[in-house]
Amino acid sequence: MPPRTQRAAQYNPVSKKVEVNEIPVPSIKDDELLIRTVAASLCHSDIMLVEGQIPAVSDEPVTIGHEATGQVVSVGSAVQGFKKGDFVGFINAYHACFKCRGCANHYIYCTSGSMVMQGFSCDGYFQEYCAIDAGTAVVLPPTMDASVSSPIFCAGITAYHAVLKAGLSEGDTLAVIGCGGLGQLAIKYAKAKRLKVVAVDVDDNTLATATASGADHAFNSRKQKDYIDQIHHITAGGCDAAAVFAAVKAGYDGAPATLRVGGHLVVVGIPKDDIQVSAFDLSMCKYHISAANNAANPRQLADCADFTAAHKISSPSKFYKLEQINDMIGVMQRQEMAGTRMVVKFEESAASSRL
Ligand SMILES: [Zn+2]
Ligand SMILES: [Zn+2]
Repeated sequence: MPPRTQRAAQYNPVSKKVEVNEIPVPSIKDDELLIRTVAASLCHSDIMLVEGQIPAVSDEPVTIGHEATGQVVSVGSAVQGFKKGDFVGFINAYHACFKCRGCANHYIYCTSGSMVMQGFSCDGYFQEYCAIDAGTAVVLPPTMDASVSSPIFCAGITAYHAVLKAGLSEGDTLAVIGCGGLGQLAIKYAKAKRLKVVAVDVDDNTLATATASGADHAFNSRKQKDYIDQIHHITAGGCDAAAVFAAVKAGYDGAPATLRVGGHLVVVGIPKDDIQVSAFDLSMCKYHISAANNAANPRQLADCADFTAAHKISSPSKFYKLEQINDMIGVMQRQEMAGTRMVVKFEESAASSRL
């Protein structure tokens, strides 16, 4: 039996601070799972809530976090395919229908009226126990270690989709522009698909991580002013696709120029300011644009988890305790992650000792 209360890292919209509070362990509905959180990682959009770019839905504190893994503690009466003790990954589309036209694009557009986003409009995953919608969960492949794989269930699925959307074949070249947590995973997925990878970032430490992740070439676009020329030289005419993970507009400015004629730009990172593109270039098919994000129905999530496990892919990560949540937020705000994901590992013994 889980305890009655638990620790949770919550954003308080009144004080505008993140605080660790003691709150009730949630109860579950018939179609839900109660999980003991194994690991939860910090994502850039968590910072958007804390900094007010994503508005809070009420004045009540809300548990942050939308990227986690867990172990099933109890199973709702209508749930099939899960049992107590299973390790699971899941996404934060709490009661999306995955059937409507909105969901076919992204669950934030779900028209069912039942969808809320955990970690934003209701409690998320930086807490010891979570009630999750079983329809968004997958049992982890047996070789996938739940304690290090939380980044797969937002950053990973996004990066995986970006590589798929690039639509490349073995030997083609993908530019990964912006090599934070998502970019590092994209490099690993791209290498697993036998692509060549050109990493572009503005931070040398991040580029060092990108090289360790398998990038064939790495360029600091701030320091190496001729990096576009160099990319065209080493690729004999430009990259076949470029996936932009940078969350600043400058990350997009040079991206089309890294491409060969007819190349493919994949929009992933979301800067505060809108990006600009040339209608002439698009009209003349100089390059094409598509997008990738974290939307995944259970089948897509299982596909990503299976590929990730089969290729032994994990995110470069640093591990923290829940009480260090504000340290983690500070590191992210100062952009000092150097391409690593910040992960809270929850101790099983700590949770059970509170019984
Ligand atoms: Zn995220
Ligand atoms: Zn829907």
